[in-house]
Amino acid sequence: MQIRGSCFCGAIAYVVRGALHNPRSCHCSMCRKAFSAQASAYAEVEPGTFEWVCGEEKLTSYEGGNGGGLKFCSICGSTLCGTVEGRVHGVTLGCVEGDPGISIGMHIYVGSKAPWEILPEGIVAYEEGPLADEPGTP
Ligand SMILES: [Zn+2]
Ligand SMILES: [Zn+2]
Repeated sequence: MQIRGSCFCGAIAYVVRGALHNPRSCHCSMCRKAFSAQASAYAEVEPGTFEWVCGEEKLTSYEGGNGGGLKFCSICGSTLCGTVEGRVHGVTLGCVEGDPGISIGMHIYVGSKAPWEILPEGIVAYEEGPLADEPGTP
């Protein structure tokens, strides 16, 4: 399986040679800011399967205090991936092209969702975690 992704302006692109895992949407206050949205939309990559295709030099990044970080396009601002201690940990689903063959399986930290967000019915939702093994990832 090969999954491609790119930013809004198209300067940066990547390929994932493998499946995406643990697709999720986190509604915590940090993810809302990081994704400029009501929640994150994010899935993990297997180690060694992620590669930048073009524009890597145009990336900029931000790391929180816990080793988790994000990489963005310095031109258009799209958030492309999450990092743990500098290595790519997962991708933002909004920048994935086409159908990556997965769908968001869980909504986490809905206990701290924005007051203006109305959650759809029928979703699998958790008040907090359960992916607390890697704090700081979206
Ligand atoms: Zn861009
Ligand atoms: Zn979060």
